Amino acid sequence: MASVMLSFNVRLALGAALLALAACAKDATAPIKPASVSAANNGANGTVGTVLATAPTFTVLDPSGNAMANVSVAVVVSGGGGSIVGAPTRTSAGATSVGTWTLGNTAGMNSLTVTVNGLAALLTITATGMPDVASKITVNTGGTQSAFGGAALALPISFKVADRFNNGITDQAVTFAIVAGGGSLSGPATATTGAGGLVSAPEWTLGKSTGTQQLGATSGAMAAVASANVSSDFSVDVRFFGAAMDPTIQAAFTAAAARIQGLVTGDLQNFSVNQAPLELAGCGVTGIAALPIGEQIDDIRIYAQAKVIDGVGLVLGSAGPCYTRDGGSASGLTLIAVMNFDVADLQNLQTSNRLNSVILHEMLHAVGVGTLWSSKAQVSGANSPNSAFIGAHAVAGCLFHGGVAANQCGSGTVPVETIGGIGTRDVHWRENPSATGIGFRTELMTGFLSPAGIANPLSRITIGSLGDIGYVVNLLSADSYAVPSTLAASLSTIRDAQGLGEFQLNETVFQPIASIDASGRITPLRQRP
Ligand SMILES: [Zn+2]
Repeated sequence: MASVMLSFNVRLALGAALLALAACAKDATAPIKPASVSAANNGANGTVGTVLATAPTFTVLDPSGNAMANVSVAVVVSGGGGSIVGAPTRTSAGATSVGTWTLGNTAGMNSLTVTVNGLAALLTITATGMPDVASKITVNTGGTQSAFGGAALALPISFKVADRFNNGITDQAVTFAIVAGGGSLSGPATATTGAGGLVSAPEWTLGKSTGTQQLGATSGAMAAVASANVSSDFSVDVRFFGAAMDPTIQAAFTAAAARIQGLVTGDLQNFSVNQAPLELAGCGVTGIAALPIGEQIDDIRIYAQAKVIDGVGLVLGSAGPCYTRDGGSASGLTLIAVMNFDVADLQNLQTSNRLNSVILHEMLHAVGVGTLWSSKAQVSGANSPNSAFIGAHAVAGCLFHGGVAANQCGSGTVPVETIGGIGTRDVHWRENPSATGIGFRTELMTGFLSPAGIANPLSRITIGSLGDIGYVVNLLSADSYAVPSTLAASLSTIRDAQGLGEFQLNETVFQPIASIDASGRITPLRQRP
């Protein structure tokens, strides 16, 4: 029994030795090499930043087409920036999963590369990352532009609808609207995002005043706001004096200043108080110390107050330049102006929603409309039935607004008011038709305020007149306006129909009392009445 067992063990040992010899000789019994590798679930789609729902697999085949297990492999992320967890290092018996593949955060192609030991060719497995749900809308391009008031921005503003990773999303409805500044859009207010989640807003024409200009875009519950800037190098510096002014009335002054900055755009040389403090008492400004030497004025300073005068009606107030500039390119233009009003009238005008128009009217007098026309030699026939403004820019504005008839502006001048006192005639556009021309009626710078509910447009005629006396102006900031035909119903008829009385602006329009040159020399022009 013992000898039989020994013999069996010797034969086993011999067999093992023979197998070892065969391996060293590399004969036909050598291990089989991989011949190819292929993938399944290749080219799948998934959401960016998430695990691909069905992991791709790969299979390594031998030359006979049989799947090979236990082959050494390496699986790495080769594109798209994702990650893989549990990547295999050896093949399974059949198809081998690549592991848990989280796609990258950027929409588009993701890839893995599978390297099989013994196989030169690499296997690339791809998946496409699709955007996540829309989570935001942002300003993409064009969000920091400037243009003159009433002008369109040169470049469109584009918005982008995107997911949490900023991947653009197509086919999203976006609605546009002006948020601030009073501008307008020329084109459909709704559009749909295209490639990259981008969509362009319609052409944006800015509002007519300096200050915040905003265009909003909304998509579902998401919103974005683009801002733009109204260009102007002209600064209206309003200083309030006297009794504390109601904030709503103050706001009317601020709005008027912004509007004037939108229509006068050229800078005037800074003025520096020189040699001696500049007294304001002669301008009717009380309670404010003389401006000290070195005080800078850029470009016009307006002192404004609302005070008790005589209650609603009767005297509205006064406005106009006090000091003008002497010398330089802006010679004769306003340096310091004053506006005084009856607070009861302002509150009454606020009630009928006409305060802003009246303050703008009066501030335009302060800048020079009416008040500097004569000193700049722009009025012919003053204090006569033929009083007319002769400046070319105002005439061109009048023609632009349709005042082409011979008795309007077709004869080359703009009819000026011939009725009323010195605060009305010769310093306003002509309100009513007369034998020598047709009135401008609703235009802001006639001497009469429109009935409540009827606009007082600020036309190119008024803006042009500021150009004619030396300001650099922006005609695009004019309101829509049409010079009335002789057949149009008069405003008094409208007023009667509304049961509203005619509102003549019972104002005093000041002419400047003195001019000041750069060295501080004051040249008296006239005394205040
Ligand atoms: Zn006036």
